[in-house]
Amino acid sequence: MTDRRDDLFFKPKNGYDRFNKSDVIDCFAFADDYKTFINDSKTEREFVENSVDFAAKNGFVPYKKGMELKAGDRIYSINRDKALMLAVIGKKTMDFGANIAASHIDSPRLDVKACPVYEDTETVLFKTHYYGGIKKYQWVAIPLELHGVVILKDGTSVKISVGEKKDDPIFTITDLLPHLGKDQLSKTLGEGIQGESLNPIVGSMPYDCDGTDRVKLAVLSILNDTYGIREEDFISAELSFVPAFEARDIGFDKSLIGAYGHDDRVCAYATLRAIADVEVPELTSICMLADKEEIGSEGVSGMLSEAFEKFCEDICIAQGKTLRECFANSFCLSADVCAAFDPNYPEVNDKLNCAKVNYGVGICKYTGVRGKAGASDASAEVVAKVRKLFDDNNVIWQMAPLGKVDQGGGGTVAKFMAMRNIDTIDAGVPVLSMHSPYEVVSKLDLYMTYKATLAVYTK
Ligand code: MN
Ligand code: MN
Repeated sequence: MTDRRDDLFFKPKNGYDRFNKSDVIDCFAFADDYKTFINDSKTEREFVENSVDFAAKNGFVPYKKGMELKAGDRIYSINRDKALMLAVIGKKTMDFGANIAASHIDSPRLDVKACPVYEDTETVLFKTHYYGGIKKYQWVAIPLELHGVVILKDGTSVKISVGEKKDDPIFTITDLLPHLGKDQLSKTLGEGIQGESLNPIVGSMPYDCDGTDRVKLAVLSILNDTYGIREEDFISAELSFVPAFEARDIGFDKSLIGAYGHDDRVCAYATLRAIADVEVPELTSICMLADKEEIGSEGVSGMLSEAFEKFCEDICIAQGKTLRECFANSFCLSADVCAAFDPNYPEVNDKLNCAKVNYGVGICKYTGVRGKAGASDASAEVVAKVRKLFDDNNVIWQMAPLGKVDQGGGGTVAKFMAMRNIDTIDAGVPVLSMHSPYEVVSKLDLYMTYKATLAVYTK
C-alpha cells in the first residue's frame, strides 16, 4: 500500500539527491568560472568592466541611439561605469513584456573619506566610512586591498588596485591586544569597534627630510610617483578597502565557496551567464546589474534611477511601443541572496521556513522587517507561476524566508521593480556569514540560480 504521506506532504530534498555525476561536474566547472570572475571583480566598477568584456565575447554590442533592433540582437548599456544593463531582443515586441533578472554588484566595504590621510605617532592611516550593513568588529585584523578610481580635475581617471597581485602590499586595521582589552571586551559586539577607528595603516617610513609629517610626505610621494595624484585629488575619488581574501573552495568535499562579496555578485554572475546563453527568446530578456543596493538602491546608479527606464524605453521606441505597456506585462526575478540556515545559530530561524545550503535557489515571497515592512510581497499567482516554471525546467528550488518573524529582516531591489508595475519575486543563492568579509555559498545553489534565471529568460 502506498503511504499517503508521500502524496500529501511537502518534502524538500537535498539537491545532491537529484544530481547525477555529470550535473556535479557541470556545477563545479561553473563554480570555478565564478571564482575566477569575482577574484577579478571586487567593486561594482570592476564587475562592470569584466562583464562588458564577457558580454562582448558573447556577441553583445553597445546600444546606440536609433539602432535598429531585431529578434536575437544582443545589446548592453553601461550606467556611469557602475551599473550595467544587457538585453537579448525577443521575437515578440516589448508591449508583450520583457523577462528581467535584476541583481546588484555593490557589496559592503570600507570607503575612503574625501580627506583621508593623517599621520599619528609617525604612522599614516586613512579615514574610512563603511558602506552597507557591516558588523564592524569583523573588519579589523584582516588583510585588506584598495580598489577604485581617482578622477583628476581635468577628468582623467586613474585606476587604483593594490593588494590583488602576489607582490602587492596589502593593508589592515589593527585591533587592541587582549592584554589591554579589559574595557573594550566589556562593551557589546556592536560597540567594541567604532566607525571612526576603522582606519587602515598605509605607511610608517619617514621621508628623508626634517620637519613634521615626514611619514605622510613619504606616503604621498609614493602615490604621486605611482599614480600622479596629490592629497587634494582624494576629494574626487572613489576608493574602497575590501577584504584581501581569494575565493576558495570550502570543505573536504569542496562543495562550498568562501569569498568576499557573494552578496550579490553570486546572483549577478549567474544572471550574466544566463543571458549569454539566451539565443532568440520569445520575450526580450533583460539582465540588470545594479549598484547601491546595499545603501537602499539610491543614487543615479541604483535601482531607483531612471537609467533602467531609459534603457527599456529605447528598446520600446525602436519597436514603436510604450514603456508602460511593457512594464505592465513584464516579469522580474529579483536575483539577490538570502540567508542560509546556520547550524551555529539555529535560534534565529524558524526551522520550517528557512533556506538550507544545497537545497537550490531560494525563492523569497517577501522580505521586509517586522510585519513585512518594506517588502514587495509577490502575489500567490506569481509564486505559483514561478514554482511551475522551475519544476518544468528541473530547477532545484526551495522557499527562503528571512529568519524568525521578530528577529530582523532586510530588503532587495524587488520593491523598486514592483513599484514600476512589474510582477516581481525574489530568488537567489542562500548565504552563510552574509555581509561578513568572507561569505559562504554552495556551488549547487549557485548553479541552480543560473538555471533558474535561464528558465525565466526563455519562458
Ligand atoms: Mn543583496
Ligand atoms: Mn546585502
